[in-house]
Amino acid sequence: MSTIRLHGGRLHDPTNGVDGDVRDLVVRDGRIDRLAPGEPADESIDISGCVAMAGGIDLHTHIGGGKVNLARLLLPEHHRGGGDDPCRHVTPGTRDTGRRYVQMGYTAAFEPAMVATNARHAHMEMGDTPILDHGAYAMLGNDELFLQMLAEGAHPDEFRDLIGWTLHATKAMGVKVVNPGGISAFKFNQRRLNVDEPHRHWQVTPRQVVHTLARGLHALGVPHPLHIHGSNLGAAGNIASTLETIDALEGLPAHLTHVQFHAYGNEGPKKFSSAALALAEAVNARPQLSVDVGQIIFGHTVTASGDTMRQFANAGLANPRKAIFSDIECEAGCGVVPFRYREASYVNALQWAIGLEIFLLVRNPWQVVLTTDHPNGGPFTSYPHLIRLLMDRSFREEQLAKLHPEVAQFSALKSITRELTLQEIAILTRAAPAKLLGLRDRGHLGEGAAADIAVYRDDADRERMFTAPELVFKDGVLVSRAGRLTAEPVGGTHFVAPDYDLSFAQTLRRRHARHGSVNPDHLVIGHDELCACGRGGALLPVACLQGQDRGAP
Ligand SMILES: [Zn+2]
Ligand SMILES: [Zn+2]
Repeated sequence: MSTIRLHGGRLHDPTNGVDGDVRDLVVRDGRIDRLAPGEPADESIDISGCVAMAGGIDLHTHIGGGKVNLARLLLPEHHRGGGDDPCRHVTPGTRDTGRRYVQMGYTAAFEPAMVATNARHAHMEMGDTPILDHGAYAMLGNDELFLQMLAEGAHPDEFRDLIGWTLHATKAMGVKVVNPGGISAFKFNQRRLNVDEPHRHWQVTPRQVVHTLARGLHALGVPHPLHIHGSNLGAAGNIASTLETIDALEGLPAHLTHVQFHAYGNEGPKKFSSAALALAEAVNARPQLSVDVGQIIFGHTVTASGDTMRQFANAGLANPRKAIFSDIECEAGCGVVPFRYREASYVNALQWAIGLEIFLLVRNPWQVVLTTDHPNGGPFTSYPHLIRLLMDRSFREEQLAKLHPEVAQFSALKSITRELTLQEIAILTRAAPAKLLGLRDRGHLGEGAAADIAVYRDDADRERMFTAPELVFKDGVLVSRAGRLTAEPVGGTHFVAPDYDLSFAQTLRRRHARHGSVNPDHLVIGHDELCACGRGGALLPVACLQGQDRGAP
C-alpha cells in the first residue's frame, strides 16, 4: 500500500469545515488517509500555490441513453474536423465526455433521464465513458402503469413498491419526473398541461403525479429526493407552475432541476421577464429543497429532453432547422432540437441573466448546484467560464454590457454585488451534489473518503484556473496532469437498492399480461450484468436513509 502526500496546498473542503487552510493530504490505497507519527510517505508532491478540492460531481448531465445518441445522429457536422471550435463539442462521444470532464477536475457525472426500457443502453454508454463514476435517475410519472394506478386511486404503498421495483430493475440512483403527466398528455394531443389541469385521458393532474412520487421516494428513504423537471418548461410566465409544483410537495424534500428554464415571468413590454427572485425566495424559505440551474451559455448547442410536449413547441426555433421526436414502447418521449443562444436576442440574454441571478440569490450554497443541463443550456466544457462569471463581478458586468440592451434594464443582475468564493464554488460543484445524492465518501477530503482530488493552480483568472487543473486523482490514481491525461481507469456505478415489497413483481406481471409490451422481468438488470455494462467498474451501492435522516416532513 503506497502513500502519496500532497503538501503546501490550500484545501477547500466545506463538508469538513476546511476553508483554505494549508494542510497535508495523504492518499493510501485509493482513499484519503493520514500518516502515522514518523511514517514517511512513499511519494511527496509539493502543491504550494495550489488549491485542492474533492473531484467535481455533476448531478445533471445528459451523457447516456437514447436522446444523446439521437443528438449525435442529428448533428454529424459537430463530430467532424475536431479542433478547438466549441460548437463541435456539444455532444461529445463517450470517450471524449469522460476525458474532458476529468481534464476539468470532475470525477463523477449523473445521467438524469433513463427510461426502464432503455436502462441497459444507458448503463453501457456510461460504462464506455472512461474514468468518471456515474449513475442515473429513472424516469417515472408519464408511463402508462403509473398513470393508470393513479387514476384508479392505488394505495400509497403500491406506488412505493412501483418506485422501489423501478430503482431495483434499472439500478438507478433516484427518480426524475419530466413535465409530470405532460409527456403522456401530449400523446392525447394536449399541447400544455398546467399543474392543476387534468390529463385528458387519465384525468389526473401534475400536482398528484409530483406529490405521489415525492412521497414514495421519501417512504423508501432514497437519499436523492424526487428530481423534478416541472411543467411548462421554457414558457413565459411559467414561474406560476414552478411555485405550484413546490406547493404540491407539501413540505416533502425535492430537487428542482434546470430551474433557469422554469423561472420566467410574463411582465414588461416583451411579456417575458425574470422571476429569479420569486424562485430564490421560495428556495430560501424551504431548506428541504435544492435546485440546479441549467445556465445557458451563448453559442451553438443541442437541446435534448424527455419533454416531447415542450420540445415540439420549440421546434420552430431549431437552428439548424431539423429536429427529432421519439418514443420507446409508448412509455417515454423525447425531443432533440439544435439551438443557438444569441447575445443579441432579448429572450436568450435574459435567460442568461436569470440563471446567474438564481445562483446569486439563493442564499445557502448547499441548496444550489452548478449545471448547464448539458447540452441543453450549453456544453459542460463551459463550466470554467461559468465559474468566472459567478466569482468575478466585473467580468460578469463586461459580459452583461455586450447583451441585448434591454436586458440590463430589466434584470436585477446589475445590482447584485455578490461574488462567490472558492469555498462556495467547492460547495456548488462537489460538496452539495455529493450530499444531495447521499454519497457519503465523495465530494469531500475527510479521512476515509475516496481519493478523488482536483488540484488547481491558484489564478485570479478563475476561468483559466478551472479549465486545466495541475493534478487530478481518481481513487488515488493520477489521471490528469496540467490538462493531459495520464491514466484511464474504468469508473464505477452508483445506484440505490431500497427495500420494497418484492411481491409487487406479481402485480407487474399481471398488468403486463393485459397491457404490456416488454416483459417486466426482462427489464431487471442484475449485479453481474450491471458490472458487465460498466466494463467491470466498481459497483457502488448507496445506502438508503433510515428514520430521522429522511428529513421533513
Ligand atoms: Zn429536464
Ligand atoms: Zn436535463
